[in-house]
Amino acid sequence: MSQTVTSRLAPTPSGYLHLGNAFNFLLTALLVDWQAGHLHLRIDDLDGPRVERSAVEDIFVQLEWLGIDYNSGPSGPDELFKQYSQHTRKERYHETLEILRKSGHLFACECSRSEIRQLSKSGSYPGTCRDKDLDLMDENLSWRVHVPDQTYVNFKTITDTCEKINVAQAMGDFIVKRKDGIPAYQLASVVDDLELGVNLVVRGQDLWASTAAQLFLAQCLNDQNFPATRFVHHRLITDNSGAKLSKSAGALSLKVLREKHHTPVWIYQETAKILQLPFEEIRTLDNLKEVFRSAMLQKNGLQTMLVQGK
Ligand SMILES: [Zn+2]
Repeated sequence: MSQTVTSRLAPTPSGYLHLGNAFNFLLTALLVDWQAGHLHLRIDDLDGPRVERSAVEDIFVQLEWLGIDYNSGPSGPDELFKQYSQHTRKERYHETLEILRKSGHLFACECSRSEIRQLSKSGSYPGTCRDKDLDLMDENLSWRVHVPDQTYVNFKTITDTCEKINVAQAMGDFIVKRKDGIPAYQLASVVDDLELGVNLVVRGQDLWASTAAQLFLAQCLNDQNFPATRFVHHRLITDNSGAKLSKSAGALSLKVLREKHHTPVWIYQETAKILQLPFEEIRTLDNLKEVFRSAMLQKNGLQTMLVQGK
């Protein structure tokens, strides 16, 4: 029970960070601070072609600007590429894929995205290749994990609520290795989390299905610790039209906000507002941490602060 809380910031360097990322980072840092835990910076850079050097640099610049400190992880782009990049960990991912393959959890799939879209309005995989028995060793096939109907995962939230997700409904038979041979996000993320000993994950509610996928993979790998991970699924920051912010957030990218002379104080206050905390007096990250800690002592305030699930 008294295990150290370990969490991570896990940005993908596919564009400039935006206000939504800042909120996620701050909330993660606040929760880790409140639990006197350990915070790791993990940059999800496996998706080669989408990764841009300028976006990698942006992560370090904006974390420093926001004053967010972390206990482990790369201190800058060079250290990232040298020793922390997911590209340096490919062997680990492939070993894990082998474990899944040998335990019979995987099948090969030849479907293209457009074929799947034609068959399935929701875009979820209709199970086309599940019984085709394609050879997993053939080239240009993706690997999917078989998720039996009525598969559920359970997890606890930071407020001790129990949640349950129907994995088949949320994810279907999802991809763990892409056609180009690159391990998929779900696989890499869970392998990294298991190795780091992550036991607190703070993410937007759009990643609810990913939580299901990752808990299911941990289960397939017979991992004993990850099921005890606590999850926070927070609401997303939207733009003026109510749309979710993307990496091309333009006006709400941190880079542009800085150019328009917004300060970290403004972001701390915005974060406090979203969390329904008193914000007027906040001038520093330490102020925000204090306000957060005292709110967390009043347990009944938690549910409204941290929206769970959907
Ligand atoms: Zn298929």
